[in-house]
Amino acid sequence: AKTQGRNTYRFYEPALQQLGARRLNLESGLKRAQELGELTLNFQPKYDCTRKCLIGAEALLRWQHKDEWISPTEFIPLAEETGLILPIGEWVMETALNTLVAWRQQGLVDSDFHIGVNVSPAQFWHHEFAERTLTILQRCLPEGQGPGVLELELTESCLLRPSEESRKTFNALRKAGVRFAVDDFGTGYSNLSYLKQFPLDVLKIDQSFVRDCIEDLSDATIIRAIIAMAHGLGLAVIAEGVETFEHAEFLKQAGCKLLQGYLVARPMPAEQFGDFCRELPQH
Ligand code: C2E
Ligand code: CA
Ligand code: CA
Ligand code: CA
Repeated sequence: AKTQGRNTYRFYEPALQQLGARRLNLESGLKRAQELGELTLNFQPKYDCTRKCLIGAEALLRWQHKDEWISPTEFIPLAEETGLILPIGEWVMETALNTLVAWRQQGLVDSDFHIGVNVSPAQFWHHEFAERTLTILQRCLPEGQGPGVLELELTESCLLRPSEESRKTFNALRKAGVRFAVDDFGTGYSNLSYLKQFPLDVLKIDQSFVRDCIEDLSDATIIRAIIAMAHGLGLAVIAEGVETFEHAEFLKQAGCKLLQGYLVARPMPAEQFGDFCRELPQH
């Protein structure tokens, strides 16, 4: 068995080496991505299907490296492991807010339109996270614009260890009008006590539940339970990964009126967002 084990290992070695080489390449590429201007943001609208209007947009990071688009599911973990997520995360926040200000000045969006920004646990747990975020808000939003327009999307893993420190982070940001959404809700851990420990605003139903909600009774049941829980706790609820009219109809019937997904629009560059807003039926 030992020999076989060794053979198996040798058999896979070249593939592993290749993976390691790609990782090293991406790692050094990522270090320079910011200064080379290889990072951009796409924006995906969030839609209120009863009021038939946009309520916000989620900023999603894109990296074009040597003629290849690297998926965030590949480079975000790398950025987290190397610590690069800190400067990159601040760039995302700043760029997203500047884009929002530009859209406002063009009259594309209302004053309550928010911008959603994804935050990795490594960012959220950094001891200066609140302070640095407030600095960015002050820099990007001119006096009187009101910062209630930034919605931070945290995964459940950010919320697992309720500490004095994280409570302070929440309170400082909340005082400045920042809102908090739980991303990929329902895919993390089953201990939901964080829901009453932290001042949250929104639950985002993960797309894995939405995908098969028409055919799969358990997914439908989980979605209904999440919606009931959100409403009971006084939180808003939005579904992501909404791809079909059937999805949208089901969600609306179930009491979830906020939708995000390819049915409304795919994530798009900021320059396309204006056309998209103007083409919305009721405008
Ligand atoms: P996420 O925050 O859950 O973002 C939603 C993902 O679902 C995005 O993938 C989006 O393009 C995709 N999506 C949206 N609508 C649909 C749909 O109808 N169907 C399907 N199948 N997919 C849809 P993306 O852009 O590849 O991002 C993947 C993940 O990378 C994000 O998941 C987020 O966890 C992370 N990420 C992206 N940008 C950032 C960032 O700026 N900072 C951090 N920390 N993480 C980011
Ligand atoms: Ca998100
Ligand atoms: Ca999500
Ligand atoms: Ca996700």
